[in-house]
Amino acid sequence: MTRRQFLAAGTMTAAALVLPALDRGSQASDIRLLPPLPYPENALEPVISSKTIGIHYGKHHKGYADNLNKLISGTELDTLTLEKIITATAGKPEKTAIYNNAAQTWNHRFYWNSLRPNGGQAPPDILSKKIKDSFGSFVECKKQLSDAAVTQFASGWGWLVSDGDHLRIVKTGNADNPLTQGLHPLLTIDVWEHAYYLDYQNRRAEYVNTLIDKLINWEFAAANLERI
Ligand code: MN
Repeated sequence: MTRRQFLAAGTMTAAALVLPALDRGSQASDIRLLPPLPYPENALEPVISSKTIGIHYGKHHKGYADNLNKLISGTELDTLTLEKIITATAGKPEKTAIYNNAAQTWNHRFYWNSLRPNGGQAPPDILSKKIKDSFGSFVECKKQLSDAAVTQFASGWGWLVSDGDHLRIVKTGNADNPLTQGLHPLLTIDVWEHAYYLDYQNRRAEYVNTLIDKLINWEFAAANLERI
């Protein structure tokens, strides 16, 4: 049994134990690509419904992870970390499908961890100081994050990133990930319609602003800052 087969076998067992209610489909998702959600599907209610989370995680995220598994299976990319797969395929037209599925897999894993029940509280000191240095205030940081997420045209992501000595807000379209620009993501907001349409229909600003007020996991962002 190869290391990959061993991991895949272990993943099926672990995933089945942790997430018995989800339709696993016929693909065996690799746990590095589709780890369990960090909270129950209904934990983010009423801001994001369990129905939205169930479909978003169980269909969309799982779909990207399964596609990526199929695309890299048996190739030289199979042994790389997800981050290395993203940077190795970015900007290569013949690798677009792998890049898109790898980036979307990474982005969703990062998004789940960027949220938490009872989030939106004041950031830990290390991050709070950096936010004041970079934006002037926590309120201004949240305003810029909201503006970026709301104004991203069509599908994409809003991000808080570390860029050298400073923090910045950036937005990316479709699957794109700031890692390819040499930036260090600290947190993200998914603004693809599948992230909010069942709960908010076309009211993206309401989704984004409620999420920033009530769900952002600033502790996760601070931990990412400390790891750089
Ligand atoms: Mn999504």
